[in-house]
This record gives sequence, structure tokens and C-alpha cells, in this order.
Amino acid sequence: MAKETRDRPVVGIDLGGTKILAGVVDAKGKIIGQAKRATKPEDGVEAVIERMAKTVREAVNTAELSSGDIAAVCSCAPGTIDAERGVVRFAPNLHNWENVPLAKLLGDKLDLPAFVENDVNLGTLGEYVLGAGQGIDNVVGIFVGTGIGGGLILDGKLWGGWRGGAGEVGHTVVLAEGPVCGCGSRGCVEALASRTAIERDIWAGVKAGRPSLIPEIMQRDKRQRLTSGALAEAFEKGDPLVREVIGRAQFYLGVLVGNLVNIIDPQMVIIGGGVAEALGEKYVESIRPVAYQYFINKRGSGDVQIVSAMLGDNAALLGAAVHARRQLGAG
Ligand SMILES: [Zn+2]
Repeated sequence: MAKETRDRPVVGIDLGGTKILAGVVDAKGKIIGQAKRATKPEDGVEAVIERMAKTVREAVNTAELSSGDIAAVCSCAPGTIDAERGVVRFAPNLHNWENVPLAKLLGDKLDLPAFVENDVNLGTLGEYVLGAGQGIDNVVGIFVGTGIGGGLILDGKLWGGWRGGAGEVGHTVVLAEGPVCGCGSRGCVEALASRTAIERDIWAGVKAGRPSLIPEIMQRDKRQRLTSGALAEAFEKGDPLVREVIGRAQFYLGVLVGNLVNIIDPQMVIIGGGVAEALGEKYVESIRPVAYQYFINKRGSGDVQIVSAMLGDNAALLGAAVHARRQLGAG
């Protein structure tokens, strides 16, 4: 590995169902140029990849660089990924992409080495190298959004599993007869503690006549969908319905963390995603005692750190940059 490549910036891409975010990241992990564009997956694979390439070029321009200065690109994608072959096996959020050789298509378009990994895996990798998990070699990342995803860092390496499907923590069953999950099972933690589940339970409460600040906040902000910010505001103001629903979500996340710690025995569990970030310490402080209660090995349980993620919306993008450097042998 030439020193030159090691020092050159890479581009990390966060490819989601609604937006494409690209960031030029220098060798120290700092974002030095950024660009954003709508994904519009309904336009088809080719159009999305063209948009990704445009977003990358724009980010490179913003950093006042040219593509020759860039060592590689790496994109995350939501769904099942064959990272070794650079293929998106299946991504329901991208209008059911199936077996898309994203690394090859993007690499050809940009004339750069290109890599692909799962978004939550890269979010965890980003937090491990540049965020909350720095210097800790066994980390579990849990990201709570419309679903719940997870990533595993074992002995300093991203653990993808035999079929590339490791880290599906959201489908851990924590209440066998519980509500139906998007996956078809019942009582997955995703069906009890994701933002979708929180939203469902809050609207059920509002419809049943429970007093809540939520309708008022949403009207004020002219929002159709319940945002993490609105949830955090109502929570801070002591909204009893919101506190109860989020409290229940925190309980089941605590059960999940307990299960994961019993299986993996990590040094740290990082919890991220919109609600977690909007509430910060208040979110994790109620998850911790439940988790500790479920630890089988209670000795030194307080040494297992359960913390909030630090990188916010940039976690996956930064993780993609870290992954690109590692794939080049420069990380
Ligand atoms: Zn499920």
C-alpha cells in the first residue's frame, strides 16, 4: 500500500429509500465536502446509480477536489448485501432492488474502486472507529428508526455472518404473542420499540381519548408524520401518553440488550437512530437498568457500557468511508 493512497480522501455514500447523501472524508475521518439528492427509486436502478454518481461528483467539487484525488467510494444500502461481490441482494426500500451489482455499476461510472455494505453495519462501523465506540473492540450497534437494525464489531472487525445476514437484532422475539412484525413473526422487538411501533401506539392512545400534546405539536409544525423531534418535545414536557409508550419501547430495548449481552458479551452497546439521538441520555438511562436485570453474568455488569450513538445522520456515511479505507488496506 502506497503511502499516497493511505492519505487520499475517500467518498462515503449513504443510499436510503428517500435520499442519497455523499461525503468526501479525509484520512482523519473528517467530512470535507458533502452533497445530497433525492433517491427516487421509482425511476429504476440505472437512474438511481446515475444520481449517486452525480452526488459523488458534487461532493468532490464541494471539497474543491477532482475525482483523481479520490482513492475509492463505498456506498451503504438498506437490505441484504453480498459485500464480497458488491451486490445488493434485496432492498425492499429501493423499490425491491434484486441482485444489483452496485459496486461494479458505480465503480464503472466513476472510474474508481467501489464497495458496498449494509447501512446498519456501516453505521456501527462508523460509530466504532469515529464515534462512541472508539478504542473498544467488541461493540454491538442498535439503530432504532422505522425498523430496528443492528451491527456487530467483533475483535475489531465487522461481523457479517456466514450468509451476510448477521445483526438482524430487530427481529429478536421479546414477546412471543406480541404484535405482528413486518417480517411476519409476532413480538419482534421491531414491532414493539421501533418508531413505527411508537407511532402506532400513540395514535391508538389519542384515538382512545388519552390526552397528549402530540396532535397540537404536529399541527403547529404542519407535519403529517410523527417526527423524532416531536416525540422528544412531548417526552421532555412530560406528556403522559408519550412517556408511557416510549417507556414501553425502552423496556423492550432493555430486554433486547440483555439478550445480546448474554450471547455476545460485548464491551459496549451503542444505541442510535432518530428517537435515541433526539432524547440522548434520557433514552438510554431507562434502557440500562432493564438490560442489567437480564444479564446472566451480573458480576461487573456495570462495566458493559450502554451508550447513545454520537455520529447522528452521518454514521453510515462515515462508516462507508472507513470501510472503503479498510478494503484498500489503508484503514
Ligand atoms: Zn420481525
